[in-house]
Amino acid sequence: MNNKLAVTLKPYSPVQYPYKKLKICRKCNHFTVLGEQICMFCHKSALQPVEKRAAVLTQRKCWFIRILLVVLIGVGLPFSTSPLQTGLLLVCGIALLSLIWTIQVRLTPALERIQLKKMFHQHAYSLVSGLKTDHQAAIAMFHQGDKPRTYEMLREIGSLVQTDQMRVEQIMLLQTFRLRKDMDLMIEPLLMESFNADLVDYIGELAKIRRDLLKENTFRYVLQYESQILKLQGGKSIIAGVAGAAVRKKRYLVLYPYLLISYARLLPKDRFLRLYRIVQNDPIFKSRPLYDEVMRVYEEKYKWDQDFQNG
Ligand SMILES: [Zn+2]
Repeated sequence: MNNKLAVTLKPYSPVQYPYKKLKICRKCNHFTVLGEQICMFCHKSALQPVEKRAAVLTQRKCWFIRILLVVLIGVGLPFSTSPLQTGLLLVCGIALLSLIWTIQVRLTPALERIQLKKMFHQHAYSLVSGLKTDHQAAIAMFHQGDKPRTYEMLREIGSLVQTDQMRVEQIMLLQTFRLRKDMDLMIEPLLMESFNADLVDYIGELAKIRRDLLKENTFRYVLQYESQILKLQGGKSIIAGVAGAAVRKKRYLVLYPYLLISYARLLPKDRFLRLYRIVQNDPIFKSRPLYDEVMRVYEEKYKWDQDFQNG
């Protein structure tokens, strides 16, 4: 415990869609989630967010069509035989140009999305190899001894590369840090399909310092692997800590009553008091197994406790 590193981690800026973190090099089409401007591949200052790139390419295509139309009108003019024809050509041409222009402006967001998809499709290989290069850069950083920076890099790559290996690497690093409440920690992206003891330890740490991060998926994970967790050293108190986090919301008690029925007895007093108050005051819990268990624990441990008498 004491040999854990005291570190400072950069804040993490979440995005609605992970691809928004991707940048592409304007010179060599190398993709990356690391770095701001300089391309790791060609070393030119040419990185651009993929969305911006898609917007630029879309505008370029729109302008191509507009200019083409003007050229076609220009080519048609010498062929008109009367001023009426010339006038008609100009009026129709301008009307068509303004119609196309309006449609293009209205469709810009959709066109940009199509362009983005096309870019990912066209450069699929480059995208995969770009993320691999990012990962190699993170490993190189690890060998240089900068663990916090390695973690920050993996965290960025992990927003796009959602594999268990990427999660394990992040958790292993996190487990070497002295975790603090004020750190930008996360759990949802790190939850794995399979049982992992380091992940469980990390969940246990979060239950102590950041209960608010534990939500449905974590409760489900803990319940799914309960028997394996119980075999770990301190496993029981980890699940009790998670149960303590579930007491935060009534909804969790309704969704995961088993977690509380099994571990209510192990909750610290303040968590149990909260649980007791919720099930006492809400008729939804009356005459349910959770209610019965809470009352049993109350009778055994807290019947004479002053804090339970008020409120
Ligand atoms: Zn480049």
